[in-house]
Amino acid sequence: MSAPARFNPPTEDDLREFIDLSINFLCIAGTDGYFKHVNPAWETTFGYTKEEVLSRPYLEFVHPNDREATIAEATNITSGRSTLSFENRYRCKDGSYRWLLWSAVIRPERGLIYCTAADVTERKREAARLAAQYAITRVLAEAATLASAAPRILQAVCESLDWSVGAIWRVDQKDKVLRCVETWHMPSAQVKEFDQGTHSRTFPPGVGLPGRVWSQAQPAWIEDVTRDANFPRASIAAQEGLHAAFGFPILLGAEVLGVLEFFSNQIQQPDRRLLEMMSAIGSQIGQFIERKEAEDALRVYARDLEVARKRAEEATRAKSEFLANISHEIRTPMNAMIGMTELALETRITREQREYLNAIQGSADALLTLVNDLLDFSKIEARKLQLDRVGFNLRDALEDTMRVLAPRAHQKELELACDIHPDVPDALVGDPLRLRQIVVNLVGNAIKFTEHGEVVLRVQAKSRRNGDAQLSFSVTDTGIGIPPEKQAGIFEAFSQADSSTTRRYGGTGLGLAISAQLVELMGGRLSVESRPRQGSTFHFTAVFEVQQPGMEKLPARWRTLTDLPVLIVDDNATNRRILEEVFTNWHMRPVAVESGAAALGTLEKSLRADQPFAVALLDGHMPDMDGFSVAERISYDRRYAGIKLVMLTSAGQPEDVARCRKLGISAYLTKPIKQSELFDVIVTAIGQPVVERPRAPQRRKGARTAERTLQVLVADDNQVNQLVATRVFQKLGHRVTVVSNGREALSAVQAGKFDLIAMDVQMPEMDGFAATNAIRSWEKAAGTHIPIMAMTAHAMKGDRERCLAAGMDGYTSKPVRIRELEQAISQLISLPEPPKIPVSESDANAVIDQAALLAGVDGDRRLLREFVRLFLADWPQRLAEIKEAIRQGDTGALGRAAHTLKGSVGNFAAQKAFAASQRLENMGRDGELGSAGEACVTLESELKILSDELRRLTKNSSIRKKQMDEDGRRKIGQA
Ligand code: ADP
Repeated sequence: MSAPARFNPPTEDDLREFIDLSINFLCIAGTDGYFKHVNPAWETTFGYTKEEVLSRPYLEFVHPNDREATIAEATNITSGRSTLSFENRYRCKDGSYRWLLWSAVIRPERGLIYCTAADVTERKREAARLAAQYAITRVLAEAATLASAAPRILQAVCESLDWSVGAIWRVDQKDKVLRCVETWHMPSAQVKEFDQGTHSRTFPPGVGLPGRVWSQAQPAWIEDVTRDANFPRASIAAQEGLHAAFGFPILLGAEVLGVLEFFSNQIQQPDRRLLEMMSAIGSQIGQFIERKEAEDALRVYARDLEVARKRAEEATRAKSEFLANISHEIRTPMNAMIGMTELALETRITREQREYLNAIQGSADALLTLVNDLLDFSKIEARKLQLDRVGFNLRDALEDTMRVLAPRAHQKELELACDIHPDVPDALVGDPLRLRQIVVNLVGNAIKFTEHGEVVLRVQAKSRRNGDAQLSFSVTDTGIGIPPEKQAGIFEAFSQADSSTTRRYGGTGLGLAISAQLVELMGGRLSVESRPRQGSTFHFTAVFEVQQPGMEKLPARWRTLTDLPVLIVDDNATNRRILEEVFTNWHMRPVAVESGAAALGTLEKSLRADQPFAVALLDGHMPDMDGFSVAERISYDRRYAGIKLVMLTSAGQPEDVARCRKLGISAYLTKPIKQSELFDVIVTAIGQPVVERPRAPQRRKGARTAERTLQVLVADDNQVNQLVATRVFQKLGHRVTVVSNGREALSAVQAGKFDLIAMDVQMPEMDGFAATNAIRSWEKAAGTHIPIMAMTAHAMKGDRERCLAAGMDGYTSKPVRIRELEQAISQLISLPEPPKIPVSESDANAVIDQAALLAGVDGDRRLLREFVRLFLADWPQRLAEIKEAIRQGDTGALGRAAHTLKGSVGNFAAQKAFAASQRLENMGRDGELGSAGEACVTLESELKILSDELRRLTKNSSIRKKQMDEDGRRKIGQA
């Protein structure tokens, strides 16, 4: 192995040759500020001769901005510290600068500094380019508009690249020129003239730097603008020391939207990398402009949309207010129409007149329904509808509702059932009237759109939380169904699944829209499932508060109104007259006054005369002192604690309801007032517990108190009969619950405790025989036995036997006679036997058996008058049903209507009218309508004779009563 060759140290010439080879800059400087030696790289890179470099102080070559730092660094080195990483710029012969990175060391003994420098210009530029790109990207990400981005882009480029001035130009497509949008310059740059010149100029394509960039759609570089032939601003640039420039287009695809240009105080060689990068930035700015324009357009669109939405809302509100106002205006005259028609129907009029009035009444009712629907709808739309919050009994409310709908279903021979699950709580707080409205609409529709089969309302408890219960309601029918594509639309206002059904079935298409909204207000949703020709199920949920034990219960349904003193306060004379007549017809004792002040005066007098009023009916809206102020005065006066207040409110004024609630007035009526509603409200009001002291007048004087109060269940489908039975049992001192058919009777027996059941035989859904049968089988398991007494107008032979065979315990025939009933009861239940009464003989030729009638009510003429009033109001409707059934050839409907009428007539021992109804009932049953027309004429004339007779019978006592009332009123007036 040979040893390494021996190293001969280089000679001085060797070293010089070596130094000259280097592409880095090597030099020796004296501490006097002059270079003493430089290698050839200085000449090739900077363009000076060696002599030029050595003959001037090196500081002259240093960029003016770097001179201070260079002097400091030189001082450092002179004091003995070497340098490793100092950077400064050196000027080339052409005026441009290059960045140098120095390392140096001093030889103090020789007064020399040995230095090497590397050219880092390219590295510095790359860092500056990246900094510029980063800064611009940031600006574009943050800026909201081009106007706010423009100066920041210019600043970012100038600062990162160390260029003095920048400008942005936008293409003006109309004038085909570039216009300056914005300029920016370094704070140190003195470029006022150039700046003004730039702002005041426009450039056509091809002219100047911006025009060149525009026409070529490419970046451009000018080393020195002062020497460029196509640079109109050259002279001012020269004045203010601007030299190098570059520009690039703002591009969107191939389209030039604008141009950016930048100027430097130095002459600069083209920087290809910088131009490439700026091209990319130009596209980036183009996209920014496009995005902002889209955003602007979107913003304008959103603003327009908002304006349109506001306008639509205003229009809806205006429409709703108009609807509410117009509905209110319509209701005011309708108040008079409906009231007067109802009164006129109760007077002695010809058959023709009655027909006309019935037609008016029907149309007025239909119109009122429409107006109510419109009002509801507009209130919901204007978000003005508020739900009530009152205690109510769910089963009562729903069953009452179904009872109202039952005649419609029975006319079409549909099964109508109401199935409320035992888990469903009964005592709730909510808005029973609105719930009823939803159910009437859904069940009403179901009946309307079903020809065969059944309609079932089901209620189930879904969940309970924090004292609230969520209930699930469904209404199922077996009707025509709704095609799937129509199902969504039916919940919209004025829409019907099939417009041809409008003609066939009628309706406005508002019902479901309103119901859906009401359901939403109750915290639920209304939906439908349906198959054409198979039927539909409408389903909704609703949330109600569950009443806490001890909360007020709804009063018993029927209370006596006879002789009840009532004060009417209304400024409208027509209203006063209607109300006075209605109350007089109900045998109440009305006093009417026309103002709040008069009301307070009358109340004061009534107290002094010790004839306090039981009820005050106040019109909410009166001049001077309105009903609410009167109510306030009354409710603050403890002396009037026994007076029940009923407010007459106006439709379309939800605040009325709120005010009523605030004043503790639970009963209010919306005009126009219907007698049936008024009746309900009055009985409800007087049934409520008195606040502080018991009501003074004792009105149940006539009630005979039984030794023991029985809980009696009356099952009868005829409303007149229901009332008669109720009254009679009450008169005997018993408590009554009423149901309308056998099925309900069975549920009632299973749910409650009864001492006696009074059972009609012929009822819809489940008749008396079947009900008795079902009750007896249920009792077998329960180990009880409730006496059942048949109460029937079946005067057929063998009926008594059939009833007893079916499991009933006793039998009374209608018309019911109080004494007979009393005896029958005491036979069934061990009560002390009442004194026996002789049964009167009846005259078969008389219209009514007066003696039997009076004996039936135990001589109580008041009670008799009430029965008569009910009957007189009821029979025209039944007769109309009979006529319609005959006209349609509907034997089932004829049988049912005639049976119902027969039941009512039977209460008055009116044998001829009874026989005439019986005849029609038989025809209906036998399907033999040949002589139905003639039988109907006979029935009608019998009914008229009977009515006249009944009126005559009750009139004498009415006259006497009126006289008494007048005396009473005079007495109040005098006091
Ligand atoms: P109206 O019954 O007054 O026309 P609704 O809003 O109550 O208005 O009902 C809208 C439409 O929905 C009805 O016209 C009918 O086409 C359809 N519809 C509602 N209920 C039923 C149903 N039970 N069976 C079939 N179609 C129904």
